[in-house]
Amino acid sequence: MKASDIAALLDEPACAHNKKEKSGCARPKPGASAGGCAFDGAQIALLPIADVAHIVHGPIACAGNSWDNRGTRSSGPTLYKIGMTTDLSEQDVIMGRGEKRLFHGIKQAIDRYNPAAVFVYNTCVPALIGDDVDAVCKAAAERWGVPVVPVDSAGFYGTKNLGNRIAGEAMFKHVIGTREPDPLPADAVPPGITVHSINLIGEYNIAGELWHIMPLFDELGIRVLCTLSGDARFHEVQTMHRAEVSMLVCAKAMINVARKIEERWGVPWFEGSFYGITDTSQALRDIARIIGDADLIARTEALIAREEARVRAELEVWRPRLEGKRVLLFTGGVKSWSVVSALQDLGMNVVASGTKKSTEEDKARILELMGDKAIMLKSEGARDLLNAVYELKADLLIAGGRNLYTALKARLPFLDINQEREFAYAGYEGMKELVRQLALTLESPVWEAVRRPAPWSAKAMVVAGPEMGDSPDAEDDEPAAPTVGDSSFDPLAAA
Ligand code: SF4
Repeated sequence: MKASDIAALLDEPACAHNKKEKSGCARPKPGASAGGCAFDGAQIALLPIADVAHIVHGPIACAGNSWDNRGTRSSGPTLYKIGMTTDLSEQDVIMGRGEKRLFHGIKQAIDRYNPAAVFVYNTCVPALIGDDVDAVCKAAAERWGVPVVPVDSAGFYGTKNLGNRIAGEAMFKHVIGTREPDPLPADAVPPGITVHSINLIGEYNIAGELWHIMPLFDELGIRVLCTLSGDARFHEVQTMHRAEVSMLVCAKAMINVARKIEERWGVPWFEGSFYGITDTSQALRDIARIIGDADLIARTEALIAREEARVRAELEVWRPRLEGKRVLLFTGGVKSWSVVSALQDLGMNVVASGTKKSTEEDKARILELMGDKAIMLKSEGARDLLNAVYELKADLLIAGGRNLYTALKARLPFLDINQEREFAYAGYEGMKELVRQLALTLESPVWEAVRRPAPWSAKAMVVAGPEMGDSPDAEDDEPAAPTVGDSSFDPLAAA
């Protein structure tokens, strides 16, 4: 990829903080985990396309370190779960065999798995030695009659965020607009209803979240032409240009796709979220409003009223167990505000939100939701995080998987909200699951057990009695069971 192409991808006019920064996202600092490389970002964005063979062209480590890196689910094909790599060795590099290995790798994938398409991810080593991945993909596509899409995403091009955009660019350049949608079967159209088509961009069907939303669209007569890329199929991505509106579900990933589809095919887009009752309703309203069908708008309002009443009634049972609990939310991007809204729906008190990976627009929304006194945590170090937990007397930390052990070592209730999560929190049904998981996490008996003094230390004191020189009050020195929120509890010491 040419430097000018990278610069063009970083210069995203639809991105609210475009004027401030052109580096994609923050540079890694020693000691702070900073997310993945551009290849990781590209692969994570496209891997959920389930009937595609995803080949990583590079040494084994690139694929080995990133395979199956998101808990995304498929309702059909599982080809995306098979890790494929050309496994370049030193000898391949020295002897110039990279392109040949790639060509044979594509053939092997097609022969063995008969994929709808092959995606080839370029990584640092072949990019450095100058493998012509575009030419190999073109030759392979012509030879075997299967679409072979190059995704030029060498890690050194930049950050994971840039990789998302590279992935989107590859779809825009090679896939979107190359096929027309299949006609709807006559029995799939409810009588008296006009079916409208939409795209969901940046929805990854993590833990099956999309399946909480799809029944709502089915009821409204809305056809999701494609989700880029959760539970997607290659032929669906090809038809995205025929949607009437695109919803950008995750603010940072693939914003360029939404913008370019609008510029070329006139499909309007908006940014929304399916986390929380309020935001789910707003997203449905926005879709209906932009489509502009009066009947759809009326049916959407009726559905929202019915679903909100149903879910709020079910949540009331849980409310006393969660109301007033203090939550420290430490996640990035769109979730830094969309989850705030979901927690506030439950009467919980979000004491601070992490903004390390948030855009200026995300931060503005946090301020809108939490008010001027909102505390935004910029640092992502474990020590700073625990300091904040302690100072703000948080009862619960909601964060990504990499903070799991920090929280557990501090004996702090923890809920995983990021891409590795095992539970689906989107939509009205997802809200019920979120509430259930919050209550189970907060009320788990494990916290009381781990904060109690170890039985052997108490027993040893009783059996041995105080030794010469021990303070007569030695037993009193045993720390009482600490609780988060107690002034005696120091999570830094515990960790
Ligand atoms: S930085 Fe380069 S070598 Fe490392 S995982 Fe990313 S693409 Fe592979």
